[in-house]
Amino acid sequence: MLIKAAVVRSKGGPFLIEEVELDEPRDDEILVKVVAAGMCHSDLNSRDQKYPPRLPAVFGHEGAGVVERVGRNVGGFRPGDHVVITYNTCERCFSCVSGKPWACEQLFELHFGGRAPDGRMTIRDRSGPISSSYFGQSSFATYALAYENNCVKVPADLPLEILGPLGCGIETGAGAVINAMQMPVAETIVIFGAGSVGLSAVMGAVIAGATRIIAVDVRSNRLELAGELGATDLVDASKVEPLEEIRRLTEGGVRYVIEASGSPSSLSCGIKLLRTGGVLGLIGAPPIGTEIPLDVNFMIFNRTIRGIVQGYSDRQTFIPRLIDLYRKGRFPFDKLIRYYDFNDINQAALDSDAGLTIKPVVRMI
Ligand SMILES: [Zn+2]
Ligand SMILES: [Zn+2]
Repeated sequence: MLIKAAVVRSKGGPFLIEEVELDEPRDDEILVKVVAAGMCHSDLNSRDQKYPPRLPAVFGHEGAGVVERVGRNVGGFRPGDHVVITYNTCERCFSCVSGKPWACEQLFELHFGGRAPDGRMTIRDRSGPISSSYFGQSSFATYALAYENNCVKVPADLPLEILGPLGCGIETGAGAVINAMQMPVAETIVIFGAGSVGLSAVMGAVIAGATRIIAVDVRSNRLELAGELGATDLVDASKVEPLEEIRRLTEGGVRYVIEASGSPSSLSCGIKLLRTGGVLGLIGAPPIGTEIPLDVNFMIFNRTIRGIVQGYSDRQTFIPRLIDLYRKGRFPFDKLIRYYDFNDINQAALDSDAGLTIKPVVRMI
């Protein structure tokens, strides 16, 4: 079928809204009419080719929309269902069958391989196939092909345009604190990076009952929002040295740190802030191949660095939980969002790159 999609053809280049051909849904696929899709840092990393897939490609992995058609083996979804599309998994590897889909061994390939799980590229134009199935969706498009395991039914009374970001950035930040760190109540946590993931971690820390939430960023507008969402201490790393400042604030260090900035120097700083027994949740992705020096003997004293993707989220239960919290006013993630028309997707990317918009959401309709 003919759809409109935002195609990136050159490294760092613009999103070009083009008419392209999308495959009809196969037996295990769900065709979703995309209402809106959030823009996440991974989309821009892939656009800049710091991450695959190779170009040309259609990105977008925080889609929300209405089920249009389902393949014959799809039992859990029907046309008309409202869905959020989240991360895709293989359902067969050790992690998947152990109930830890976020650690799927195929995750990287399924997100960044540019192909559907069966190996085909589902989008093409006259000159050939285009990298697609980004996170099992490629939702910067008017229609997307997704799967039973990465579609989550959502209530029809909520506007779909709000809900897309729950599928990646928001679940990642909130889930990191709530699911992956399992931080006890009345703790102190330091959160590096006050973008959409870091701010979602701030909201997650509030829900988890943290009494002190120290947010670190270099942009005052983001820190201000962190304060609104519940951060108790704001550290502007463009003005003060964060290691010294946070050691001073905490009398030596903390047991919980989230690194959501993607900056290797923040990661090093976060590690140094760990008290014995402390855990650093590593979420922010620097370019592939980035390495940092590590004081091995410091780490031996029961300190942990835990890589976290997708916030250890069980998709079918965690997203509905976040929606319930949103309805109760306890998870105001809509404060992060600014909307753009599909035709203005390049402005959304510019505003995101410049730190002016925390979570751009592109509306297809
Ligand atoms: Zn798997
Ligand atoms: Zn993402």
